[in-house]
Amino acid sequence: MSNPITDYSSFISKRGKLKSASPIRSLFSISSLPGMVWVARILRMKKVFKDENTKPLVIEGADLDEGLQYSATPGLPKLNQWLRKLQIRNHSLPEPNTQGKEWDLIISNGSQESLYNTMEVLLDDGNSIITETPTYSGTLSILKPLALNIVGIETDKYGMIPEIFEKTLSEWDHSAAKFPRVVYIIPSGQNPCGSTMNNKRKQDIYKIASKYNLIILEDDPYFYLQFDYEDEYGADTKLGRSFLSMDTDGRVLRFDSLSKILSSGLRLGFVTGNRALLEKINFHQQSSTLHASGVSQMIVQALLTQWGFEQWDKHLEMVQSFYREKRNQFVKLLEKHLSGLVEYNIPSAGMFVWIRLLGIQDSKSLIFEKAVEKKVILVPGVAFKPDNSISPFVRASFSTANEEQMDEALKRLSALLNEELNK
Ligand code: PMP
Repeated sequence: MSNPITDYSSFISKRGKLKSASPIRSLFSISSLPGMVWVARILRMKKVFKDENTKPLVIEGADLDEGLQYSATPGLPKLNQWLRKLQIRNHSLPEPNTQGKEWDLIISNGSQESLYNTMEVLLDDGNSIITETPTYSGTLSILKPLALNIVGIETDKYGMIPEIFEKTLSEWDHSAAKFPRVVYIIPSGQNPCGSTMNNKRKQDIYKIASKYNLIILEDDPYFYLQFDYEDEYGADTKLGRSFLSMDTDGRVLRFDSLSKILSSGLRLGFVTGNRALLEKINFHQQSSTLHASGVSQMIVQALLTQWGFEQWDKHLEMVQSFYREKRNQFVKLLEKHLSGLVEYNIPSAGMFVWIRLLGIQDSKSLIFEKAVEKKVILVPGVAFKPDNSISPFVRASFSTANEEQMDEALKRLSALLNEELNK
């Protein structure tokens, strides 16, 4: 008789041992408890797929025979072409195959997949990578099991601070850690801070990355969710210039996502950049998921070819005004309930407000023990810290809660903070 296995640790790889539960994903299980108010999640654009006029078109235009087959790793050709045109339009890219400027585009199962593949392709154990601090917890969950030296650069209202970035590189202790080859940045509506980089900030960071020869990973799922145009962007377009559009050296890989503008359940994103790098990412995808879901791609292909850029632009305006209004509601209610108890910057893009809880050192126990008891879900700041250090911040999202739910959630948070501070 064989022995049942009771301890699997000797079967698990070093990388496997370093994998841990995502703090955000673990909130899904408590979100369905009765009365819970969820100020942590992301909207799906139900309207696009449920609208009486659009829905039949999406289904009619979708060639399911093609969508249900295995297909090419970079994605369905027509959809891939559509997205290339979009990139040419928004990021000053030349026509593909322009000599010396060869670029490519690969569709993936959400930008999370292309980020994962890219990190695997670019980084070996023990390498260093620069990120903002705080930064997206989903990227940290990719990086941490890779046993990297993750160096977080402080941020302000406009994201990563160039002076600190430069100082970190110029004073790098080569005997202590390998010099970084990669910098990871979320330039618009940063997750979790809500910060948006202006053009000047991007140019400064690009110059430093150039000087020290770093690849820039531009993770920009909130690019199209810029809802407040600021003159100081100095932009030729309302959305400002991307790192990709500034790239003269082939050092930018840009990650776009359809999750925030169409729907996150589609699981579609795309990565754009230098052809040689993209070839490696393609090879990685060939061995991981083969290609993004054909059914999802076919639905989106039918929708986008039906729309063309004109309807796409109109849709984006609708998305932006939706988020602008949500942001306004949320900030108004923050003022109403939490004035004097918290500090925050007002975001001009995305869906997040990064809130400092005054008088609180560590938001984690407060959120996981007491806020959940009070039936309000926020994400504790530590989830976004490359060094796992404690944080007095929480991340709130204004995308799905309606005004009444926001009001209730912030009232509960205010009661909780008052209780804590008066202990
Ligand atoms: N990057 C950032 C900064 C994000 O916030 C998210 C989603 N929350 C992703 C990547 C992953 O997006 P996708 O749904 O396209 O995988």
